[in-house]
Amino acid sequence: MQFVCSLFKTKMRFSVQKNLVNAAKVWYHLKNTFAKAVVNVKSTQSVSDLRKANRNRVYRFLYDSKGDQTVQDVSRALSLSLPTVNQNLNELMELGLIDNSRIASSSGGRRPRLLSVIPSARCAVGVEISPHHMYLVATDLKGSELDYRAVSRPFEATADYAAALAEEIQSLLAGLGVGQDRVLGVGVTLPGIINVEDTVLEYAPTLVSTPLDLSFLRAAIPYAVKFCNDANAGGFAEWWDQPEQSSMAYLSIGRGIGGAILVNGTPYLGARQRSAEFGHMCIHPGGKTCSCGRQGCLEAYCSTAVLSNHLGISLADFFDGLEAGAGEKPLLWERYLEDLSIGIVNIHTMLDCDIVLGGPLSPFLGKRVEQLKNYINQVDSISHTSQHVRLCRYHEKSNGIGVALKYVDNFISNI
Ligand SMILES: [Zn+2]
Repeated sequence: MQFVCSLFKTKMRFSVQKNLVNAAKVWYHLKNTFAKAVVNVKSTQSVSDLRKANRNRVYRFLYDSKGDQTVQDVSRALSLSLPTVNQNLNELMELGLIDNSRIASSSGGRRPRLLSVIPSARCAVGVEISPHHMYLVATDLKGSELDYRAVSRPFEATADYAAALAEEIQSLLAGLGVGQDRVLGVGVTLPGIINVEDTVLEYAPTLVSTPLDLSFLRAAIPYAVKFCNDANAGGFAEWWDQPEQSSMAYLSIGRGIGGAILVNGTPYLGARQRSAEFGHMCIHPGGKTCSCGRQGCLEAYCSTAVLSNHLGISLADFFDGLEAGAGEKPLLWERYLEDLSIGIVNIHTMLDCDIVLGGPLSPFLGKRVEQLKNYINQVDSISHTSQHVRLCRYHEKSNGIGVALKYVDNFISNI
C-alpha cells in the first residue's frame, strides 16, 4: 500500500511537472505569437503612416506650387519613385483633389499631363456672430472667398435664431452649388470666452448673459460645428499661409478691443482661455472707467465708440469728416493715435513679435498706418516697434475666414 501510495505520489509529481512544462510551452508560444502580432501591427502601422505621409507630401507640393507640375517634377522634387508618385496621385484623384486633365504643349517628345490641386474640391463655412448681425463666409481649400453675406439679426439664445442661422448657411451653400459631402464644416465665432470642451460660452458681456450652453446652435446646423473666440479666429486668418510668419500678436480694434497671440500658428490661449485681452491693459492709471469696471484700460480710450458714439455718427462718417478736417475730429484722432500707440508699444515690449492690426477699424486705417507709426516712434524710438506693425489682410471678414480656415488647415494636414 505504501508502495502504491509512493508510486501514486511519484506519478502525481511527474504529472504536475509535465503539466508545468506544457504550460510553459504554451506560454512561450503565446508570448511569441503575441510579440509577432505586435511587430506586424507596428510594421503595418508604419507602412500605412509612410504611405499617408507620402500622399500628404505629394498633395502639399502641388498645393504650394506656383506653376504647372508634371509627374516627373513631383518625383524629382520629393525624391520619390515614379510608381510611388503615380500611386499617390491616383489616390488623390479618387478623392477629387487633383486635376490632370490638361496636357503640356509640345516640346518634341511625348506631351506630359499637367497636375494641379482643385481648390473647389472642398469648402468650409465661417460664421461670425455679433450682437446685431450674422456674417457668413465660405472659403475653398486655398482660403479664397467663395461668397460672403451679412445678415441683420439681433442675437438670441433661441432655437428660432439657430434655425435662421442654419437656413442662411444652407442658402449660402446652395447658391454655390456645393453638396453636403464637400463641406468640411462650419466654424462659428463668438465675442467671448468658450470652454475648452467647445460646448459652453463662458463669458460674453457684449452678447448675452453667460454661461450659455451652445448645443442649441450645434443641433440646428447639419454639419460638423466648432466654436471659436472671434479675435482668435481673426488672428489665425492673418497668420495662415504666411510662410515667413512665425509668431505674431493680433490686435482687433472695434467697439471692443481684443486680440490673439499665435506661437508658430498655435493660439496661446492661457490657462483659462483668457489670454490676449489687450483691451484691458492699463494705459492710464486712474483714468477713464472701462466696461470691465477697471480704470484706464486701452479699450476705454481706443474703442471705436470713442470716435463714433462720442459724436453721434458712424465710423465711416467720422473718417469722412476727418478727411475734410472738420470740427474736433483731427484733434480727437490725434489723441486716439497717441493712446493706441501706448497700447501697441506695450504689446511689443511684452511679446517681441510682429503686431497685426485688424477688426472694424482696420478698413479705415489704410494710408493712416504710417501716421500711426509716427506716433509709435514717439512713444518708443529705441526698439523700432513701428517696423513690426502691419495692417491685416481680411479686415472685417477676418473672424469668419479664420474659423473656416481652421477646417481647411486640419483637412490639408490630414490628407
Ligand atoms: Zn477694461
